[in-house]
Amino acid sequence: MIASSVSTLVERAEALCRDLRLQSVRDWKARTGGLAIGYLPVYVPRELLVAQGILPVGLMGAGADLEIIRGDAYYQSYICHLPRSTIEMGLDGSLDCLDGLLFPAICDVIRNLSGMWQMLFPDKYAHYLDLPQNFDRELGGRFYRDELETIARDLAARGASAPTPESLREAIVLYNENRAVVRSLYELRAAEPWKIPTWELYVVLRAGLVLPVTEHTTLLEAYREAALADTTRLPMDQARVVLTGSFCEQPPLGLLKTLERAGCYIVDDDFIQVLRWIRSDVPVEGDPLENLVNSLLDDAIASPTRYSDQDEVGGELVERVQRRQAEGVLFCAPSFCDPALLDQPMAVAAVERRGIPWTSFKYSENSGQFQVIREQAGTFADSIKLWSEA
Ligand code: SF4
Repeated sequence: MIASSVSTLVERAEALCRDLRLQSVRDWKARTGGLAIGYLPVYVPRELLVAQGILPVGLMGAGADLEIIRGDAYYQSYICHLPRSTIEMGLDGSLDCLDGLLFPAICDVIRNLSGMWQMLFPDKYAHYLDLPQNFDRELGGRFYRDELETIARDLAARGASAPTPESLREAIVLYNENRAVVRSLYELRAAEPWKIPTWELYVVLRAGLVLPVTEHTTLLEAYREAALADTTRLPMDQARVVLTGSFCEQPPLGLLKTLERAGCYIVDDDFIQVLRWIRSDVPVEGDPLENLVNSLLDDAIASPTRYSDQDEVGGELVERVQRRQAEGVLFCAPSFCDPALLDQPMAVAAVERRGIPWTSFKYSENSGQFQVIREQAGTFADSIKLWSEA
């Protein structure tokens, strides 16, 4: 087999990311006759859906590719952009191939979006997924298991298979493989960021929102192999930074390219967290549904959308800076994102206590002008290279 080049793989992934009408999902449904269930950021148990023969489809807004006409009419001006583009795509028929949507409980905006969705599309399945904020197995665990069993029953009633222990275990194995290759790409980028530019990593990861998990794992493995084999990419004198705050509405691709061109090597980030929400392998032995529940309780990453003790906010960020040998932090959040911006002062305090340089800016998924951010990020990277003791 002839190995694909980096550019071929990235072009394919970018086309999948920008296909707002979800043609690949439509093709999958025509091929298999299965259900496709969409989900909003940041986490849903995709293993359960796959165990029921369903294609999970991640929605993260429309980026800069869609003019918002009707979506704006549903929201006040002082909230983020993602729900507007999601409504716009719903109303223009782009999402009509989805048989339903899961709305994880991450903020009031997603809660309101779930209500609007149910009124606009009453025939489609909609479930507001209340993720536990109490991590005791007898409380949050029982609650979450009940949520999963409700979803499984609802979807079986709409034509999906009922999950069995075997089908759940198979799905867990597939996602463990996917998480492992995602982790390896993050390690590789941190070690040799010139070989894995963040904007490329971002698009190959994001393609996983619409691809079946096995196809996505194959794409990631091919990208890793091609990137490692490419000897034309050489290290440059750039500042190593952790980018944080972009866990829901995603920054435009142009912003990521701008930051890298401005002299930053992004060595860790918060993008597309559903792929990394569970840190390590979900165990396969024993009761697989219980394993999914316990992994969410015990092994999830820190996030502003997940309860942490006030003293802990920022601790995980500092740990990531140290583990990735980063020299600074970019706080890069969507405009009006309450979860990100409410936690930011505490995270800033945590990095300042350690003398870690930081800067912050905000974006919208459809931002088109990056000159100001380019100057800010460039000055930040220069100041690290010239004066930082890190
Ligand atoms: S970007 Fe922030 S405020 Fe907007 S839907 Fe996502 S988490 Fe909620």
